Amino acid sequence: MTDHVVVLGGGTGGSVLANDLADRLAPELDAGDVRVTLVNDDPDHVYKPVWLYVPFGEREPADGRRPLAELVDDAVDLRIDRVTRLDTNARRLEMRDGAPIEYDYLVLATGSTLAPDEVPGLAEAGHDYYSESGAEALRDELLSFTEGRLVLSVVGTPHMCPAAPLEFVFMADDWFRERGLRDEVDITYTYPVQRVHGNEHIAEWARPIMDDRDIDVETFFNAESVDPDARTVTSMEGGELDYDLLVTIPPHRGVDLVEEAGLGDQGWVDVDQHTLEAEAADRVYAIGDTAETGAPNAGSVAHYQAGVVSRRLASEVRGRPATATYDGKTLCFLETGMSEASFVAFDYENPPSPAPPSEKLHWAKLAYNESYWLTARGLL
Ligand SMILES: Cc1cc2nc3c(=O)[nH]c(=O)nc-3n(C[C@H](O)[C@H](O)[C@H](O)COP(=O)(O)OP(=O)(O)OC[C@H]3O[C@@H](n4cnc5c(N)ncnc54)[C@H](O)[C@@H]3O)c2cc1C
Repeated sequence: MTDHVVVLGGGTGGSVLANDLADRLAPELDAGDVRVTLVNDDPDHVYKPVWLYVPFGEREPADGRRPLAELVDDAVDLRIDRVTRLDTNARRLEMRDGAPIEYDYLVLATGSTLAPDEVPGLAEAGHDYYSESGAEALRDELLSFTEGRLVLSVVGTPHMCPAAPLEFVFMADDWFRERGLRDEVDITYTYPVQRVHGNEHIAEWARPIMDDRDIDVETFFNAESVDPDARTVTSMEGGELDYDLLVTIPPHRGVDLVEEAGLGDQGWVDVDQHTLEAEAADRVYAIGDTAETGAPNAGSVAHYQAGVVSRRLASEVRGRPATATYDGKTLCFLETGMSEASFVAFDYENPPSPAPPSEKLHWAKLAYNESYWLTARGLL
């Protein structure tokens, strides 16, 4: 009998996993004992970290896209289609266009989606760099923005790359300074809890840098509505901020089919944070943003989790106990300007301790972004 492993989502986690399985299970794939299918609703793989640089004119959205067919091992069946329903009892996926897919093992790697409509006025007034179209539209605004108040508002958590809002204001500060415009541009950063980042260690590190750079901070600010005509953001706590250019990190959700399948709320899959097995269904794993583990929604997390699930699946297919576990490992380069970055590495047990910012770390981040395409192929 051939075991069918289906990976749903061809972003960072799903692509790394599919390629890792192709390598690890090569003998079984050759013998026809296993089949691996990767399903994605876009023929391209999208590398989202590129979008941080788009508003500053440093990168193009196309730099973050490559055809999945070029990235994924030939031993993997690639299906470009959208899954519309998941039945974990029948072990079956229904598709928008093609025939349903039955699985023996399923890995959900469906990532995050943006939900700006949850805050009245936000979609109309707010710019973002958390989507390809948003990053392009923001670039058009930012490149001609020479005076006024730029507000960066983190509307809800969790969101992708918890460091990216800090990176954006640090880069904006430096970018306006280099161009002699910083005195004309006020920068305000808002965050929904009582500090500037969800992780207290990163928050303690970042806050003095923000103060040094004259970045105004409003914590415990949960945006409730935006008035595009008056150019104001109002918070649930009763605060009101004027803006000339509003950049937001919109609310994030997982995909609907997760909740409809009873696997977790708001599209996030409830999993064991070590084994990554879904709590509500057998033979289902989740990795990356959609897996509710307590680790950040970051590509590095998706990557490490893919390695763990690949090893577990290889054991299961071979009829052995699965022992590989995820320890919360997270790596992140964090831009602190246009030419300096910091770096953090942490896990469930060991908190982050950001490295002193340096030019070397900035180049390391840019080098990683280039080598990412090898990582996605499973070569690094
Ligand atoms: C601006 C920005 C900067 C970032 N910077 C960093 C960084 O520096 N370092 C870092 O580690 N992370 C960073 N991230 C976060 C990182 O991009 C994500 O955490 C990562 O992509 C998550 O991987 P994933 O596999 O879970 O989901 P994704 O990469 O989002 O992939 C999900 C895939 O599933 C597909 N899909 C969803 N639903 C369906 C369906 N029903 N049917 C078929 N296909 C479906 C989607 O089309 C997509 O291809 C950044 C993110 C942003 C937005």
